[in-house]
Amino acid sequence: MYVTIDGPANRGVGAVTGIVDEFLSLKADTEADLLAMQVGDFYEFFDEDAETVADELDLQVSTKSSHGSSYPMAGVPVSELTPYLKALVERGYRVAVADQHETDDGHEREVTRVVTPGTLLETTDASAQYLAAVVRDDESAWGLAFVDVTTGRFHVTQVAASADAYTELYRFDPVEVLPGPSVRDEDEAVATLRSRTDATVTPHEANAFAPGAATHRLKEQFGEEALHSLGIEPGSPAVRAAGAALDYVAETGLGVARSVTRLQPYRADDHVELDATTQRNLELTETMQGDRSGSLFATLDHTVTSAGGRLLREWLQRPRRSVEEIESRQEAVAAFTQAALARDAISDTLSNTYDLERLASKIAHGSADAHDLLAVRDTLEAIPTLADAVESTPGLADSPVADIVNRADRETLGEVREELADAIVADPPKTLTQGGLFQRGYDDDLDDLIAGYEEAMEWIEALEPGEKSRLGVTHLQVDRNKTDGYYIQIGKSEAEKAPEEYREIKTLKNSKRFTTDELDERERRILRIEDERADLEYDLFEEFRDRLADVADVLQAAGRTLAELDALASLGLHAVENDWTRPTVTGGDGLDVEAGRHPVVEQTTEFVPNDARFESGRRFLIVTGPNMSGKSTFLRQTALIVLLAQIGSYVPARSARIGTVDGIFTRVGALDELAQGRSTFMVEMQELSNILHSASEDSLVILDEVGRGTATYDGISIAWAATEYLHNEVRAKTLFATHYHELTRLADHLDDVANVHIAADERDGDVTFLRTVREGPTDRSYGIHVADLAGVPDPVVDRASNVLDTLRADNAIEAKGSGRTEPVQAVFDLGSGEFTANGAGDDRGADSDRDPDREADSDRDPDRGADSDREANPDPDREAIVEDLADLPLNELTPIEVLSRVQDMQERLQ
Ligand code: ADP
Repeated sequence: MYVTIDGPANRGVGAVTGIVDEFLSLKADTEADLLAMQVGDFYEFFDEDAETVADELDLQVSTKSSHGSSYPMAGVPVSELTPYLKALVERGYRVAVADQHETDDGHEREVTRVVTPGTLLETTDASAQYLAAVVRDDESAWGLAFVDVTTGRFHVTQVAASADAYTELYRFDPVEVLPGPSVRDEDEAVATLRSRTDATVTPHEANAFAPGAATHRLKEQFGEEALHSLGIEPGSPAVRAAGAALDYVAETGLGVARSVTRLQPYRADDHVELDATTQRNLELTETMQGDRSGSLFATLDHTVTSAGGRLLREWLQRPRRSVEEIESRQEAVAAFTQAALARDAISDTLSNTYDLERLASKIAHGSADAHDLLAVRDTLEAIPTLADAVESTPGLADSPVADIVNRADRETLGEVREELADAIVADPPKTLTQGGLFQRGYDDDLDDLIAGYEEAMEWIEALEPGEKSRLGVTHLQVDRNKTDGYYIQIGKSEAEKAPEEYREIKTLKNSKRFTTDELDERERRILRIEDERADLEYDLFEEFRDRLADVADVLQAAGRTLAELDALASLGLHAVENDWTRPTVTGGDGLDVEAGRHPVVEQTTEFVPNDARFESGRRFLIVTGPNMSGKSTFLRQTALIVLLAQIGSYVPARSARIGTVDGIFTRVGALDELAQGRSTFMVEMQELSNILHSASEDSLVILDEVGRGTATYDGISIAWAATEYLHNEVRAKTLFATHYHELTRLADHLDDVANVHIAADERDGDVTFLRTVREGPTDRSYGIHVADLAGVPDPVVDRASNVLDTLRADNAIEAKGSGRTEPVQAVFDLGSGEFTANGAGDDRGADSDRDPDREADSDRDPDRGADSDREANPDPDREAIVEDLADLPLNELTPIEVLSRVQDMQERLQ
């Protein structure tokens, strides 16, 4: 940031001419929030814009005087515009950029583009940068288009349900969203867009979304035939979204739309449904805390190029359903696991390539410079090397990897590479306007100019030694500067030796400068040649780049090939390094993971492997076990193994047979939100509701505690009913971790429900987590054990054990009221799943006759006679404490909270 102070701010009403005037007039013609106008080597903001920019980016404002008025001014060097633009755009501003062109009589400026989050070309961020357009038609079908101008990707789809539309939005994670007219009118939809994505929501002209206009726009870009062959219906919601997105892109920048070379319609249901919550819960690309490291992607990613990383991330977000596609990718990964040497060689070669997808886009919209073209050349040079590596490695040559390499149009790429190698010099200047870009032999006219130039330069270079010896002068120098042009400089002491034809042009302290007619003449020739050469090379460069733009799609496809190789090699490497296995993927229903591990946790922990098995008669696993025993980990690991299998990856297991799923749905406790004291019960129920509506028989459902956010009876009831519904109606494969031990009885009542528990061992008063999943429910309550360890008085611990035994024996939950009145009893009937007060009105007479206190006495420690007296004549205060203890929600409390509550109880007992 530079600052110039031209005097005090003094904004008069007087006429404004010159630069500020030009700025204000350009600004008036654009709808952008801010205007950056090039003035020589800087982009300047004036007036209010200067103040806004200075405020946002913490810059200092100077003033610009213009005909008696002063204007705030802030500027950034041309070479640093990108980061500033990015920062402004990320803060939600749309910034118009006016570039300066030289004309015969000075400079002219025009707005060449409007930069918005979704159309920023100069991104330095490796991740994808999608602009989304969303429309909804009268029948409530959603059309969605996602375009990334930095890579030319353009994906279009149509879905029926709002939830699916949001899922797609979350998957693509756009930086900017254009809601269509019907969407914009519904505040709720826009609110959801805003909350589900970090995107800037930009209103765009309703007209652009109109069926006719949108269809026309697409035909214009891709041709009538293209739409037809892609099976895209003119005027459909998908077309409306796609047309509007393209319209917006075209409007924001000259030539930007050219980077979008291919329309890729896709069906949302080709992919495994992963709703937004699940993508977050499974920590696919970031952890629940929002960190990238610790996510599945970060663990798995050994790619060496940014395009490879982007693709791998995309795969994780879009697991496939088709067994054939999965197997083909698996086959490629398998080939890479075998061919260690070739894999390393390929990664090595790839690490010297550049982001061809992005470079191709820059070429297409005319912003690539000579260095970009060299990067393309270097990258294309890698392709034959890569192809050789694949072809000469037996395991790779006959695998789908060879097909991927062969998909690249090697002939065209080879021609482009040769053209580039013969055209651009090794070390071109940064700008395109000063010549020096092309090699000899590229263009005859240019060669003539260069020859003339070199001849003139030779003459000049020979001048200094020649004159020195001709005149016998030691301190003679030939040089050039901006004001004097070429000159001969002689030291003062020898200046009198200057011959007659030397014309003095300047006297310096220790020397004099001269010129001659001949030197002037050569100088004029050099200047003329330099100008002509700069102009010619600029034109030649544009022409050359335009020609390359015609094959931008070939270059983009080649970029895609490199990205695929990178992502596949990365999966192969990870599989080998972590001893992963190739799963058998089938269209069938079962799931059998032997000695499975959690892909992320195993990186940092000595992981105890576990089995997970679903088959007919066993579709719903209730997972019990003490707190911290590993229930959540087991659930997530199972979901992640299925997900990895369906992206075609190997999986962390000894062996795995995976029947493909159509969706993975999760609901896990949001501990961090609990810690923030927010009520999450509503959120929990919304998530549950979504799962019950959306999951199908072919889905995998992960429920990590349901009903914890509410009172115990409510919680059990909801968990109970949800289990029945999932089991009877939805029939999805389900893993349900619960601390409601009561639910384990469901296995006796529902055919497909089975119990597993995570084993823990108690020795010398210490609980050791074994982390092993075993058949059947947990056999004891570790909650009471914790109470014991915490020093809760023995009578209370014993009483709690008795209550628990009673509950187990009774198939019922009994709650006694406090106070001196008769105990109130609620009975939870496992048959009906309902509670009845006092067990009244049902067939539970036998149970209600029983006095739990008396039963408790029967297996009591004989030397606790005093307690026995007390229980014969219950002391209500003591009873209340016992009840409080029994109700103590151990799973929701931190150990410290348990301690403090227990301490309270102890004090009350005393
Ligand atoms: P829970 O859901 O039962 O409270 P978690 O799944 O959160 O338990 O696991 C508790 C801790 O145990 C975590 O730190 C986890 O990394 C570790 N853990 C879980 N399962 C295993 C396992 N199979 N092997 C090793 N460590 C495990």
